[in-house]
Amino acid sequence: MSFSLHGVGVSRGIAIGKAHIIERTDLEITEYRIDREKISREIDRLRDAVSQAKQNLRDVRNEIPATTAVDIAAFIDTHLLMLEDAAFTFDAERLIRELECNAEWALKLQRDALAKAFDEMDDPYLRTRKDDVYHVVSQIQRILLNHAPLEHEVTGDKLRGMIVLADELTPADSVLMQRHGVVGFVTHYGGPTSHMSILARSLGVPGIVGVHGIRKYINENERLIIDASDGVVVGQPDDSAVNYYRNKKIAREQHISSLTRLRSAPSETADGQVVELLANVDLPEDFLAAHEVGAGGVGLYRTEFLYMNRTGSPDEEEHFETYRSLIAALDGLPVTIRTLDLGADKDFDVDVGQQSGANPALGIRAIRLSLREPGLYWPQLRAIVRASAFGPVRLMIPMLSTLEEARQVVSNIRTLQNDFSKNAIDFDPQMPIGGMIEVPAAAICADSFAQYLDFFSIGTNDLIQYTLAIDRVNDEVNYLYDPLNPAVLRLIAMTLDAGRAASIPVSMCGEMAGDVRYTRLLLGLGLRQFSVHPSSLLELKQTINATNVEEIRRTARAVLGASDPAEYKRLIGKLI
Ligand code: PEP
Ligand code: MG
Repeated sequence: MSFSLHGVGVSRGIAIGKAHIIERTDLEITEYRIDREKISREIDRLRDAVSQAKQNLRDVRNEIPATTAVDIAAFIDTHLLMLEDAAFTFDAERLIRELECNAEWALKLQRDALAKAFDEMDDPYLRTRKDDVYHVVSQIQRILLNHAPLEHEVTGDKLRGMIVLADELTPADSVLMQRHGVVGFVTHYGGPTSHMSILARSLGVPGIVGVHGIRKYINENERLIIDASDGVVVGQPDDSAVNYYRNKKIAREQHISSLTRLRSAPSETADGQVVELLANVDLPEDFLAAHEVGAGGVGLYRTEFLYMNRTGSPDEEEHFETYRSLIAALDGLPVTIRTLDLGADKDFDVDVGQQSGANPALGIRAIRLSLREPGLYWPQLRAIVRASAFGPVRLMIPMLSTLEEARQVVSNIRTLQNDFSKNAIDFDPQMPIGGMIEVPAAAICADSFAQYLDFFSIGTNDLIQYTLAIDRVNDEVNYLYDPLNPAVLRLIAMTLDAGRAASIPVSMCGEMAGDVRYTRLLLGLGLRQFSVHPSSLLELKQTINATNVEEIRRTARAVLGASDPAEYKRLIGKLI
């Protein structure tokens, strides 16, 4: 009989296929002593296995198609670097010598010691590194045990049409899965902001993460269905479930291709109100996608992804060249470059010391980090101001919580502009400077922020997190994540009203903006600028075109004043 399991969808789409289970963590390691005279042979055995693991990874790396825009090779290089690090094998060799134990056992001891050290640090970035250690160690152990290396499991044609199930997957897996025709994946662990999820989304492979115990419920080769839009896994589907999802998949594909006709349609409501539709850009290929759907520009360029999977930070020239080519690609359309929003769940390999603390989302992230780290902040600021000479650029500040932060950034930009003028460096003196409204403090004081800033963009992902006190990457509190919470709606309305009163544009660039269930409500509250992932843009335009704002404006406003839950529900029901 069919049953369903739930997790978080990391990309849209439906997949129907047979399960292939990747066993990743449960290798049976035999532990035994090695005679003293055989120690050097055991060390050679370890070294051979490490060389083979390196070769396997290099093979995978060579399989990455040159057309893949994301720098996926960098992900694999992380594992390769670890294997090439002499210190990594040195410790295992030392353990073999000192404990006179077999290589698999030595690796296990070394891995556990490293894992313990990572656990004690309680740092999200280092936890990711811990996963890398597990992955690399199990690669070598598999070779020692003569198991097929994991990478080879997902090569060849045998996985075409299958859905991969695993405790967790690596970025390298996502590339191979897509390349070898895997149609979807489900993992036990993981959040929608992991590297794996980010890549899967941009590669268009539907997947669901956080389905606890998935491997207990579904066996190898069993048929299953995943609906990533709803985060649902259907196990042992009967024919009617298969038919239902097959039809839903076809309908979705037809719907998506039918939307392309809207590419050049005007973006306005049924009663003629013009709505601006901009694109959120995380990865290079999102620019192409933004162009394909006819976005009116970029409303959010998340520059922190420039820092992903690399060591060291980009310098001013790298920032500048990236922004300049982006501006050229947009050919006159505006681009909103957000200064670094590193920290919390986007804790990439940037050497700024310990910055996470116990509650990283409440710690040094985004503009707080930039202002504290001149080495990160100034090169980026200079590059954005320089890039403004090449096309319409707007600079956006993430996670503002105090007026002082806004005032300081504006003053720093003015200083730079004066300096550039003196030194005959080109820039746009009119470059708008805006701020993300994603901390309740900023929404409540939006009228004051409007005195310093030229535009606002509402970041609902964080605004909801901070208003409702729920960590957006903690799957235990996912059920509380509610864009329709009255407090969230009031803060959105306050921001829109403050923007209108100060005559500055207000957009929304959080996920709520791209979810068509909320479009009518947001239009009714006065939102006229949406910035969304390109894959959501045409569907959003369709909903906007079908909405008569005048008809719903009063209801949307009434929602804000409704204190009776039944009345609140009734009014919301009219809008979504
Ligand atoms: C947001 O918080 O809504 C937002 C768009 O920023 P990010 O998701 O990058 O934190
Ligand atoms: Mg945010």
